[in-house]
Amino acid sequence: MNEKLKPCPFCGREAVIKSSSDSRYYVMCGKCEAKTHKCIDKSDAVKAWNRRVEKESSLPVEYEADGYDDNGELIYDTAYCPNCRNEYEVYYDYHDNYCRKCGQKLDWRTDNG
Ligand SMILES: [Zn+2]
Ligand SMILES: [Zn+2]
Repeated sequence: MNEKLKPCPFCGREAVIKSSSDSRYYVMCGKCEAKTHKCIDKSDAVKAWNRRVEKESSLPVEYEADGYDDNGELIYDTAYCPNCRNEYEVYYDYHDNYCRKCGQKLDWRTDNG
């Protein structure tokens, strides 16, 4: 199996697989300090890196509209983490850049601004 390494989520540079002195593998960004923990299998290190990249790339939250305001506009007051479906109260929680439950980076923008 030959999974491809995604670019670094912090600086966008290419990542490389390294082996440590205790013959374990980890993935490290070629530019900044980002790296995974050490893994016994090379493919586990690649997977750990790619999982991290995915969590650091923000995904839009899934808004749920459950009413209309006085102007007939939909009110979005509930949102869900796209990764683990954790529920959020939009007015209280929209400052959270990362999901409290799974660590997914969240994008709170709505289509209409
Ligand atoms: Zn980097
Ligand atoms: Zn989550």
